[in-house]
Order: sequence, then C-alpha cells, then structure tokens
Amino acid sequence: MNRRNFIKKGIVGGTSMLAVSKSKAANIWVKSAESSDKPAILGGPKAHAGTWPKWPEWNSATDEKRLLEVMRSGVWSRSKVTDEFEKRWAEMIGAKRALAVVNGTNALNASLAQLEIGWGDEVLVTPYTFIASVSCILLNGAIPVFVDIDPETFQMDPDNIEKKITPRTRAIIPVHILGLPCDMQRIMAIAKKHDLLVVEDACQAWLAEINGKKVGTFGNAGCFSFQNSKNMPIGEGGAIVSDDDEFMDRCYSYHNYGNPFGSTAGQYWAGTVMIGTKLRLTEYQAAIGLAQMERLEQQTEVRNENATYLKSLIAEIPGIVPYRLYDDVTKAAFHLFPFTYHAEAFKGMPRAKFLEALRAEGVPCSGGYTELNKMPFLKNAFESKYFKKFYSAADLDYERYMEENDCPKNEKLCNEQAVWFSQSLLLAPKENMRNIATAIRKIHMNAEAIMKM
Ligand SMILES: *Cc1c(COP(=O)(O)O)cnc(C)c1O
Repeated sequence: MNRRNFIKKGIVGGTSMLAVSKSKAANIWVKSAESSDKPAILGGPKAHAGTWPKWPEWNSATDEKRLLEVMRSGVWSRSKVTDEFEKRWAEMIGAKRALAVVNGTNALNASLAQLEIGWGDEVLVTPYTFIASVSCILLNGAIPVFVDIDPETFQMDPDNIEKKITPRTRAIIPVHILGLPCDMQRIMAIAKKHDLLVVEDACQAWLAEINGKKVGTFGNAGCFSFQNSKNMPIGEGGAIVSDDDEFMDRCYSYHNYGNPFGSTAGQYWAGTVMIGTKLRLTEYQAAIGLAQMERLEQQTEVRNENATYLKSLIAEIPGIVPYRLYDDVTKAAFHLFPFTYHAEAFKGMPRAKFLEALRAEGVPCSGGYTELNKMPFLKNAFESKYFKKFYSAADLDYERYMEENDCPKNEKLCNEQAVWFSQSLLLAPKENMRNIATAIRKIHMNAEAIMKM
C-alpha cells in the first residue's frame, strides 16, 4: 500500500469511528465473548467488539462559548482568562499560587532554573518516566542521577534514594508516573534530612492525592502538563504551583521576558530585572483549560472507580500483577492503568505477543516506556562544549556514569513486564472493564495454542 492510499484508508477508518462514537456505541456494554471462547488472535470472537471513549472530550454546547468569547474579544495574549485559569488551578490543587506556562516540559525547566539548580549539582530522578523529567536537569547544567524503581508501584523506590546521595546532590524530582503518587512521606523525610530541594513532576497526576493533599503541593514546586493526551488536555499547556511567593514571582518574571513582577520588581525605570524567556499561555488556551477543568474532578472519580474494579478483576489471573498504591494514597489520577506481566505464567509468551493478542481482542494496550537512562541524549550532553567547560573529564566519564546509573528493576519493567491501558479506557462504562478481564483470561487459558501459532 502506498502512502497516499494508507492515509486515505486512515481517513475512512477515522470517519466511521466517529460515526460509531456519535451513536454512543461506546456507552453500551457489548458482551462480546466468554473467557472460554477461542482467543481473537486465533480467529475467535473479540472480547471487546465495541469502541472505547474518544479523547480529548469536547462539549460544543458549553466549551465553544468560552472559546468564541475570547476569539471575538481580540485579547489573545495572556490577560484575564489566564489569570482566572491560574486562580482556579491553584484552588483545585490546593496551592497558594499557580503560574500557567506553555507546557509541562517548560514548567520543569523554569522551576529548576528559579530554584537555581544548575552546574555542579546532581539531581535524583526515576528512569521510569517521560524524557522531560530528565532533560530539565541537563538543560539547567546539572547531572541526573537515576534511582531504581519499585516494580509494584512503578515509582522511584525510596529504599534506593539515600545510597545515591553525594555532597553534590541538590534536589529530588519525584515523578508521580502514570498518575500514581510517589511515596511522598518518605521522599520528603529524606529530602529534609539531607537538605534537598524537591520539584514534583506531576505532569501525569492532576488531582492525585495523599491523605487528601494533592500531589504537586508537597515539594518546593509542582509541575503539570495539559498536553493533548493528558487527563486535563488543552493541546499544549502547563503550570507551576507553589506556596512560595518569592519563587512564584521569579517564575512569573522569568516566563515574561524577565520583566518585573511582584517581589522581583526593581525600580520602575530599571527595566528588565532578570534573565528571562517567554513561556506565556494564550487566552484561548486558558479558555479551553477552564472548560476541561469543569470535567476533571468527575472524570477522575470515574477513572478511580473503574481502575479499582479492573484491578480486582485481573488480580486473580496468574501472571498478572496490577499496580500497588502506597497505603496513604487517597486518590490516583490514572493517566495510565498499569500492571506487570509475568511470562512464566503464560507458558513463556513474550510480552510483545501478549500485547498483540490483547489488541486482537479489541483492547488497546502498550508496553510503555523504554529505558531512559540508556538513551543517547546523555552521551550527547556529556560530549557537549558546555558540559566539558563546567565538568572535569572524570565527571564526564560516560562508562562509569552508565555503570553507576544501572537500574536493573527498571530494565526488566521496561523490556519485559510493564503493560499499560490508556486513561480513556477507564472512562468507559464499568461493564467494559469485564471485557478487558475476559480478554486477558482468554489469552491466559490459551497461552499454549497462541505460542504454537
Ligand atoms: C507529558 C509529561 C511532561 C511534559 O509535558 P509537556 O506538556 O508534554 O511538555 C513531563 N513529565 C511527564 C511525566 C509527562 O508525562
């Protein structure tokens, strides 16, 4: 098939999908197959023959009014709507202040910059994350130090933190990855003991909470993303939250060319007060954000209910170990629903084959992240002019760095064990969770036949 035909087919497929979802087929539970049926990959009926909710959600009746108002006003650069968005976001998260920025990546970059984390510093981070959690460290001139994960929770394992602390360690970036909160009680205790800064990467963890306190409010700063796929989608967008007025004033100034703001205001005539850049959200983005915010709490409840139900359904299947939340977690965001897959209970079926069989059943899934601590960007940074200027050859000994940053549990999780379902599956009716469980059971019961195909 040539590229043009492929695209054409894609468009046709997309249109028919839209027609189905308009007829609300996604909201009707289609009991498609029994666990005893033949797996779909071997020609049997699909465990889930219906569709899944589309993402992002858009309500023409309510959302478009907000957007049109902004468009018709002609005020498109940051102004009152962005102010309102920040106020509402801070309220929702339970932080004193919020600053809207262009994306989560730059929320992290700016936070590290304004906490003056930079050249000569080491920053502890999980290898099980999106690139931006780590690139913010290198972009500010610091060196990432990887803390291996706990495969049960998918998070940075607090047991592995202290052995990675050196006199150069300045900060920890706890990433609430997949929307499941980190063990903040232990991480904050370690940070306090060693006088370390904490920047929470909550870019997948909107409204997740520990003992009723929202993640992003435990450390010196919390960073959020509102990218298209995220649970709070604007297309692009991000936010920094903190209770520290002086830090937030500096972040504001930095995101607005370094112009005076609050406590960073110099004399009126002095002009630009600090080195800055431009990271401002637009008014129409803020309007979309305000519309999405209306749904976020309710959607988060649905994701939590469905995740708990799905977890209970699949926990009994041999070789399937669903995520574990730390005891003090009162709510997760479930940007993804994760579990670990153990091939030995599936007659040695490689994860890739399991994923293929699951997709054939009508259940979209993914094997998740690849190993971040082994990607070429690290070597590239170490070989750059800037790093060579600020660090000794011994500091930039890449072989040694790779050895010291080996994370065997992460390696196994990335390459063999992790399986993800996207957050949008968790917005389907509860009954559809049963189809997912049926799909996995069918594959488990027929593992031998699937392996022989
Ligand atoms: C999405 C994401 C980011 C970056 O956010 P963008 O808005 O895409 O720049 C950072 N960290 C994590 C964990 C993310 O998932």
